[in-house]
Amino acid sequence: MQKPNERLKNQTAIVTGSSTGIGAAVALALGRDGANVVVNYHSSEEEAQEVADQINKESLCGEAIIVQCDVSKEEEVQAMFKRTIEKFGTVDILVANSGLQKDAALHEMTLKDWQTVIDVNLTGQFLCAREAIREFMRRGMREDVSKALGKIIHMSSVHQVIPWAGHANYAASKGALKMLMESICQEYAPLKIRCNSIAPGAIKTDINKDAWETESALQELYKVIPYKRIGVPEDVGDTAAWLASDESDYINGTTLFVDGGMTCYPGFTTNG
Ligand code: NAD
Repeated sequence: MQKPNERLKNQTAIVTGSSTGIGAAVALALGRDGANVVVNYHSSEEEAQEVADQINKESLCGEAIIVQCDVSKEEEVQAMFKRTIEKFGTVDILVANSGLQKDAALHEMTLKDWQTVIDVNLTGQFLCAREAIREFMRRGMREDVSKALGKIIHMSSVHQVIPWAGHANYAASKGALKMLMESICQEYAPLKIRCNSIAPGAIKTDINKDAWETESALQELYKVIPYKRIGVPEDVGDTAAWLASDESDYINGTTLFVDGGMTCYPGFTTNG
Protein backbone atom coordinates (compact mmCIF):
# COMPACT_ATOMS: atom_id res chain seq x y z
CA MET A 1 0.00 0.00 0.00
CA GLN A 2 1.48 3.36 -1.05
CA LYS A 3 1.60 6.34 1.29
CA PRO A 4 -0.46 9.48 0.57
CA ASN A 5 1.46 11.65 -1.91
CA GLU A 6 0.90 14.56 -4.30
CA ARG A 7 1.62 13.10 -7.74
CA LEU A 8 -1.93 13.99 -8.94
CA LYS A 9 -2.11 17.35 -7.14
CA ASN A 10 -4.34 20.00 -8.79
CA GLN A 11 -5.96 17.37 -11.02
CA THR A 12 -9.60 16.31 -10.93
CA ALA A 13 -10.80 12.79 -11.61
CA ILE A 14 -14.24 11.37 -12.29
CA VAL A 15 -14.49 7.67 -11.39
CA THR A 16 -17.76 6.10 -12.51
CA GLY A 17 -19.35 3.39 -10.40
CA SER A 18 -16.99 4.13 -7.52
CA SER A 19 -19.27 3.49 -4.56
CA THR A 20 -18.26 -0.20 -4.64
CA GLY A 21 -15.62 -2.72 -5.68
CA ILE A 22 -12.90 -1.81 -8.14
CA GLY A 23 -14.23 1.73 -8.67
CA ALA A 24 -14.06 2.48 -4.94
CA ALA A 25 -10.44 1.27 -4.82
CA VAL A 26 -9.60 3.43 -7.85
CA ALA A 27 -11.23 6.50 -6.27
CA LEU A 28 -9.32 5.92 -3.02
CA ALA A 29 -6.00 5.45 -4.86
CA LEU A 30 -6.47 8.65 -6.90
CA GLY A 31 -7.42 10.53 -3.72
CA ARG A 32 -4.38 9.09 -1.93
CA ASP A 33 -2.25 10.50 -4.76
CA GLY A 34 -3.72 13.98 -4.28
CA ALA A 35 -6.42 14.28 -6.97
CA ASN A 36 -9.84 15.80 -6.43
CA VAL A 37 -12.25 12.92 -6.94
CA VAL A 38 -15.85 12.75 -8.09
CA VAL A 39 -17.23 9.54 -6.65
CA ASN A 40 -19.99 8.65 -9.10
CA TYR A 41 -22.70 6.25 -8.00
CA HIS A 42 -25.81 4.81 -9.59
CA SER A 43 -27.94 3.94 -6.56
CA SER A 44 -25.84 3.45 -3.41
CA GLU A 45 -25.45 6.98 -2.06
CA GLU A 46 -24.41 5.87 1.42
CA GLU A 47 -21.49 3.76 0.15
CA ALA A 48 -20.40 6.57 -2.19
CA GLN A 49 -20.36 8.99 0.75
CA GLU A 50 -18.20 6.57 2.76
CA VAL A 51 -15.63 6.48 -0.08
CA ALA A 52 -15.66 10.30 -0.34
CA ASP A 53 -15.35 10.67 3.44
CA GLN A 54 -12.31 8.40 3.47
CA ILE A 55 -10.63 10.42 0.70
CA ASN A 56 -11.39 13.69 2.49
CA LYS A 57 -9.88 12.26 5.65
CA GLU A 58 -6.71 10.77 4.15
CA SER A 59 -5.76 12.86 1.12
CA LEU A 60 -2.96 15.40 1.50
CA CYS A 61 -4.41 17.87 -1.00
CA GLY A 62 -7.44 16.41 -2.81
CA GLU A 63 -11.13 16.78 -2.10
CA ALA A 64 -13.92 14.32 -2.91
CA ILE A 65 -17.61 14.81 -3.66
CA ILE A 66 -20.32 12.35 -4.67
CA VAL A 67 -22.44 12.70 -7.82
CA GLN A 68 -25.31 10.44 -8.82
CA CYS A 69 -25.56 9.51 -12.51
CA ASP A 70 -26.67 6.65 -14.71
CA VAL A 71 -23.79 6.46 -17.20
CA SER A 72 -26.06 5.09 -19.93
CA LYS A 73 -28.10 8.33 -19.99
CA GLU A 74 -26.66 11.18 -22.06
CA GLU A 75 -28.24 14.03 -20.06
CA GLU A 76 -27.12 12.53 -16.75
CA VAL A 77 -23.51 12.13 -17.93
CA GLN A 78 -23.50 15.73 -19.15
CA ALA A 79 -24.93 16.91 -15.82
CA MET A 80 -22.20 14.99 -13.93
CA PHE A 81 -19.46 16.72 -15.95
CA LYS A 82 -21.19 20.12 -15.49
CA ARG A 83 -21.35 19.62 -11.73
CA THR A 84 -17.67 18.56 -11.64
CA ILE A 85 -16.54 21.60 -13.62
CA GLU A 86 -18.63 23.92 -11.44
CA LYS A 87 -17.00 22.49 -8.33
CA PHE A 88 -13.40 21.89 -9.42
CA GLY A 89 -12.99 23.99 -12.60
CA THR A 90 -12.19 21.14 -15.01
CA VAL A 91 -11.67 17.40 -15.43
CA ASP A 92 -8.20 15.92 -15.99
CA ILE A 93 -8.78 12.20 -15.50
CA LEU A 94 -11.72 9.97 -16.37
CA VAL A 95 -11.85 6.41 -15.10
CA ALA A 96 -14.88 4.90 -16.85
CA ASN A 97 -15.35 1.95 -14.55
CA SER A 98 -19.11 1.29 -14.36
CA GLY A 99 -20.13 -2.10 -15.64
CA LEU A 100 -22.53 -4.93 -15.05
CA GLN A 101 -23.38 -8.49 -16.06
CA LYS A 102 -26.73 -10.01 -17.10
CA ASP A 103 -25.73 -13.60 -17.68
CA ALA A 104 -27.66 -16.18 -19.70
CA ALA A 105 -27.13 -18.85 -22.32
CA LEU A 106 -27.35 -17.05 -25.64
CA HIS A 107 -30.48 -18.91 -26.79
CA GLU A 108 -32.22 -17.74 -23.62
CA MET A 109 -30.83 -14.20 -23.48
CA THR A 110 -33.51 -11.52 -23.66
CA LEU A 111 -33.05 -8.44 -25.80
CA LYS A 112 -33.44 -6.39 -22.62
CA ASP A 113 -30.49 -8.14 -20.94
CA TRP A 114 -28.38 -7.79 -24.08
CA GLN A 115 -29.26 -4.10 -24.38
CA THR A 116 -28.74 -3.24 -20.70
CA VAL A 117 -25.20 -4.61 -20.76
CA ILE A 118 -24.33 -2.81 -24.01
CA ASP A 119 -25.92 0.44 -22.74
CA VAL A 120 -23.92 0.52 -19.51
CA ASN A 121 -20.65 -1.23 -20.47
CA LEU A 122 -20.19 0.29 -23.94
CA THR A 123 -22.49 3.28 -24.54
CA GLY A 124 -21.79 4.54 -21.02
CA GLN A 125 -18.06 4.42 -21.74
CA PHE A 126 -18.58 6.30 -25.01
CA LEU A 127 -20.70 9.01 -23.36
CA CYS A 128 -18.22 9.59 -20.53
CA ALA A 129 -15.17 9.56 -22.85
CA ARG A 130 -16.86 12.01 -25.22
CA GLU A 131 -17.62 14.50 -22.44
CA ALA A 132 -14.09 14.13 -21.07
CA ILE A 133 -12.52 14.83 -24.48
CA ARG A 134 -14.80 17.87 -24.97
CA GLU A 135 -13.68 19.24 -21.60
CA PHE A 136 -9.97 18.52 -22.21
CA MET A 137 -10.20 20.42 -25.53
CA ARG A 138 -12.14 23.34 -24.01
CA ARG A 139 -9.71 23.72 -21.10
CA GLY A 140 -6.45 23.42 -23.01
CA MET A 141 -3.03 22.36 -21.84
CA ARG A 142 -1.80 23.01 -18.29
CA GLU A 143 1.83 22.00 -18.45
CA ASP A 144 2.40 22.80 -14.78
CA VAL A 145 -0.15 20.11 -13.89
CA SER A 146 0.41 17.26 -16.37
CA LYS A 147 2.29 16.44 -19.55
CA ALA A 148 -1.00 15.27 -21.08
CA LEU A 149 -4.07 17.31 -21.99
CA GLY A 150 -6.14 14.61 -20.28
CA LYS A 151 -6.21 10.95 -19.39
CA ILE A 152 -8.98 8.41 -20.03
CA ILE A 153 -8.91 4.95 -18.49
CA HIS A 154 -11.55 2.45 -19.56
CA MET A 155 -12.28 -0.48 -17.25
CA SER A 156 -12.33 -3.44 -19.58
CA SER A 157 -11.86 -7.13 -18.72
CA VAL A 158 -9.83 -10.15 -19.73
CA HIS A 159 -13.02 -10.95 -21.65
CA GLN A 160 -12.07 -8.38 -24.26
CA VAL A 161 -9.89 -11.26 -25.57
CA ILE A 162 -11.12 -14.43 -23.81
CA PRO A 163 -14.51 -15.62 -25.12
CA TRP A 164 -17.00 -16.28 -22.31
CA ALA A 165 -19.80 -18.81 -22.76
CA GLY A 166 -22.97 -17.79 -20.94
CA HIS A 167 -21.83 -14.14 -20.91
CA ALA A 168 -21.88 -13.22 -24.63
CA ASN A 169 -23.34 -9.75 -23.99
CA TYR A 170 -20.59 -8.95 -21.47
CA ALA A 171 -17.75 -10.30 -23.64
CA ALA A 172 -19.13 -8.44 -26.68
CA SER A 173 -19.27 -5.17 -24.71
CA LYS A 174 -15.66 -5.52 -23.53
CA GLY A 175 -14.38 -6.62 -26.96
CA ALA A 176 -15.99 -3.53 -28.50
CA LEU A 177 -14.53 -1.39 -25.73
CA LYS A 178 -11.03 -2.40 -26.86
CA MET A 179 -11.67 -0.91 -30.30
CA LEU A 180 -13.32 2.18 -28.80
CA MET A 181 -10.25 2.80 -26.63
CA GLU A 182 -7.77 2.22 -29.46
CA SER A 183 -9.74 4.41 -31.88
CA ILE A 184 -9.88 7.24 -29.32
CA CYS A 185 -6.12 6.93 -28.87
CA GLN A 186 -5.49 7.09 -32.61
CA GLU A 187 -7.83 10.08 -33.02
CA TYR A 188 -6.80 12.20 -30.03
CA ALA A 189 -3.19 11.30 -29.19
CA PRO A 190 -2.01 14.18 -31.43
CA LEU A 191 -3.81 16.52 -28.99
CA LYS A 192 -1.88 14.87 -26.13
CA ILE A 193 -4.83 12.92 -24.79
CA ARG A 194 -3.92 9.51 -23.40
CA CYS A 195 -6.53 6.77 -23.61
CA ASN A 196 -5.85 3.30 -22.19
CA SER A 197 -7.73 0.36 -20.71
CA ILE A 198 -7.23 -1.77 -17.65
CA ALA A 199 -8.38 -5.36 -18.11
CA PRO A 200 -8.83 -7.06 -14.74
CA GLY A 201 -8.93 -10.83 -14.39
CA ALA A 202 -10.76 -12.22 -11.36
CA ILE A 203 -10.97 -9.50 -8.72
CA LYS A 204 -12.82 -10.18 -5.48
CA THR A 205 -15.96 -7.99 -5.70
CA ASP A 206 -19.74 -8.42 -5.66
CA ILE A 207 -19.89 -8.84 -9.45
CA ASN A 208 -18.29 -12.32 -9.26
CA LYS A 209 -19.21 -13.53 -5.75
CA ASP A 210 -20.16 -16.99 -7.07
CA ALA A 211 -16.56 -17.51 -8.20
CA TRP A 212 -14.95 -16.99 -4.76
CA GLU A 213 -17.64 -17.45 -2.11
CA THR A 214 -16.83 -21.09 -1.35
CA GLU A 215 -13.49 -22.91 -1.07
CA SER A 216 -14.42 -25.26 -3.93
CA ALA A 217 -15.32 -22.34 -6.20
CA LEU A 218 -12.00 -20.70 -5.34
CA GLN A 219 -10.03 -23.88 -6.13
CA GLU A 220 -11.85 -24.08 -9.48
CA LEU A 221 -10.96 -20.42 -10.14
CA TYR A 222 -7.26 -21.03 -9.42
CA LYS A 223 -7.17 -23.42 -12.39
CA VAL A 224 -7.37 -20.36 -14.66
CA ILE A 225 -5.05 -18.10 -12.61
CA PRO A 226 -1.36 -19.06 -12.96
CA TYR A 227 -0.48 -16.78 -10.02
CA LYS A 228 -2.85 -18.81 -7.76
CA ARG A 229 -4.48 -15.93 -5.95
CA ILE A 230 -7.63 -13.94 -6.60
CA GLY A 231 -7.06 -10.24 -7.25
CA VAL A 232 -8.19 -7.55 -4.85
CA PRO A 233 -9.62 -4.15 -5.85
CA GLU A 234 -6.42 -2.41 -4.66
CA ASP A 235 -4.46 -4.27 -7.39
CA VAL A 236 -6.52 -2.33 -9.92
CA GLY A 237 -6.67 0.91 -7.89
CA ASP A 238 -2.88 1.19 -7.73
CA THR A 239 -2.57 0.45 -11.46
CA ALA A 240 -5.13 3.14 -12.32
CA ALA A 241 -3.40 5.78 -10.18
CA TRP A 242 -0.08 5.07 -11.90
CA LEU A 243 -1.71 5.04 -15.34
CA ALA A 244 -3.29 8.44 -14.60
CA SER A 245 0.03 9.94 -13.56
CA ASP A 246 2.86 11.36 -15.68
CA GLU A 247 4.97 8.33 -14.68
CA SER A 248 3.18 6.47 -17.48
CA ASP A 249 3.18 9.41 -19.92
CA TYR A 250 4.35 7.41 -22.95
CA ILE A 251 1.69 4.72 -22.51
CA ASN A 252 -1.17 5.31 -24.93
CA GLY A 253 -3.64 2.99 -26.66
CA THR A 254 -2.65 0.07 -24.45
CA THR A 255 -4.58 -2.45 -22.41
CA LEU A 256 -2.91 -3.32 -19.11
CA PHE A 257 -3.98 -6.78 -17.99
CA VAL A 258 -4.20 -7.04 -14.20
CA ASP A 259 -4.97 -10.72 -14.08
CA GLY A 260 -2.28 -12.85 -12.40
CA GLY A 261 -1.50 -14.35 -15.81
CA MET A 262 -5.05 -15.42 -16.75
CA THR A 263 -4.57 -14.30 -20.35
CA CYS A 264 -1.58 -16.69 -20.67
CA TYR A 265 -4.11 -19.51 -21.21
CA PRO A 266 -3.16 -21.77 -18.25
CA GLY A 267 -5.40 -24.50 -19.73
CA PHE A 268 -2.54 -25.15 -22.16
CA THR A 269 0.05 -25.75 -19.43
CA THR A 270 -0.07 -29.52 -19.92
CA ASN A 271 -2.09 -29.86 -23.13
CA GLY A 272 -2.12 -28.72 -26.71
P1 NAD B 1 -19.24 -3.81 -8.87
O1 NAD B 1 -20.58 -4.38 -9.17
O2 NAD B 1 -18.84 -3.62 -7.45
O3 NAD B 1 -19.06 -2.41 -9.58
C1 NAD B 1 -19.78 -1.98 -10.72
C2 NAD B 1 -20.19 -0.57 -10.46
O4 NAD B 1 -20.87 -0.06 -11.62
C3 NAD B 1 -21.18 -0.46 -9.28
O5 NAD B 1 -20.76 0.56 -8.40
C4 NAD B 1 -22.49 -0.10 -9.96
O6 NAD B 1 -23.34 0.70 -9.16
C5 NAD B 1 -21.98 0.67 -11.16
N1 NAD B 1 -23.00 0.78 -12.20
C6 NAD B 1 -23.79 -0.21 -12.71
N2 NAD B 1 -24.65 0.32 -13.60
C7 NAD B 1 -24.42 1.66 -13.62
C8 NAD B 1 -24.98 2.75 -14.34
N3 NAD B 1 -26.01 2.57 -15.20
N4 NAD B 1 -24.49 4.00 -14.12
C9 NAD B 1 -23.48 4.19 -13.23
N5 NAD B 1 -22.90 3.21 -12.54
C10 NAD B 1 -23.37 1.96 -12.74
O7 NAD B 1 -18.21 -4.74 -9.64
P2 NAD B 1 -16.66 -4.52 -9.97
O8 NAD B 1 -16.08 -5.84 -10.05
O9 NAD B 1 -16.07 -3.50 -9.06
O10 NAD B 1 -16.73 -3.95 -11.48
C11 NAD B 1 -16.16 -2.72 -11.89
C12 NAD B 1 -15.71 -2.83 -13.33
O11 NAD B 1 -14.66 -3.79 -13.43
C13 NAD B 1 -16.79 -3.28 -14.31
O12 NAD B 1 -16.68 -2.55 -15.52
C14 NAD B 1 -16.46 -4.75 -14.54
O13 NAD B 1 -16.90 -5.20 -15.80
C15 NAD B 1 -14.95 -4.68 -14.48
N6 NAD B 1 -14.32 -5.99 -14.20
C16 NAD B 1 -14.45 -6.60 -12.99
C17 NAD B 1 -13.83 -7.83 -12.77
C18 NAD B 1 -13.89 -8.57 -11.47
O14 NAD B 1 -13.36 -9.68 -11.40
N7 NAD B 1 -14.47 -8.03 -10.43
C19 NAD B 1 -13.10 -8.41 -13.80
C20 NAD B 1 -12.99 -7.76 -15.02
C21 NAD B 1 -13.60 -6.54 -15.21
